[in-house]
Amino acid sequence: MADCLFCKIIARDIPASNVYEDDRILAFNDINPQAPTHVLVVTKRHISSLNDLSPEDDQIVGELVRRAAAIAKERGISTNGFRTVFNTNRDGGQTVPHIHLHLLGGRGMHWPPG
Ligand code: AMP
Ligand code: ZN
Repeated sequence: MADCLFCKIIARDIPASNVYEDDRILAFNDINPQAPTHVLVVTKRHISSLNDLSPEDDQIVGELVRRAAAIAKERGISTNGFRTVFNTNRDGGQTVPHIHLHLLGGRGMHWPPG
């Protein structure tokens, strides 16, 4: 999608600190990390939010979640634990309208979230 920040990162029009890539997924470090590990796992295909998912997307959503867990394992934070978050639209705190799973870890997380 032409005017989408994460599509531009996927197209290498904007640089990012990539941590994983395959033909369907890109993961990169969040530019404003909220924890020692803060990685964004995104679909290469533009999907705006969870509101736009269809049954055909079940596979890619599963891949996002499993990739986040794999990155957590690589970072050595699986056993202590980590937080995974999809923000959706205004009240959910979504600022970039391209589906991304936040992987946060390396410190204790608070609940409820703000
Ligand atoms: P959200 O608020 O859930 O939409 O998350 C968007 C995330 O993208 C925020 O945590 C931002 O810090 C992050 N972000 C914004 N611009 C960039 C960028 N150029 N590279 C990496 N992360 C970014
Ligand atoms: Zn996009």
